[in-house]
Amino acid sequence: MGMEEEFLWPLCQSCARPLIREKDFGTNADGTRNEDYCSLCYQKGAFTQPAMTQGEMIENVANQIILRTGMPRSSAEEIARSVIPTLKRWR
Ligand SMILES: [Zn+2]
Repeated sequence: MGMEEEFLWPLCQSCARPLIREKDFGTNADGTRNEDYCSLCYQKGAFTQPAMTQGEMIENVANQIILRTGMPRSSAEEIARSVIPTLKRWR
């Protein structure tokens, strides 16, 4: 069973943030809502940080998990490494 099955909401397919409210979603070039990516990762049809690598994203997400939960770094990195490579941007 993949981790994504435990979530009630779609996840950003770049950073794994849950997409819940309208403002959580990124936007397409024509201004419509993008269903795959969050507003931090994707704006007006393009990634906000196009040069970011998968390793950098894993590090960012691990840092967010540590900030939110106080989890040890090794556990946070293990979670990030199990989720991020499954997302559309990184497959
Ligand atoms: Zn995102």
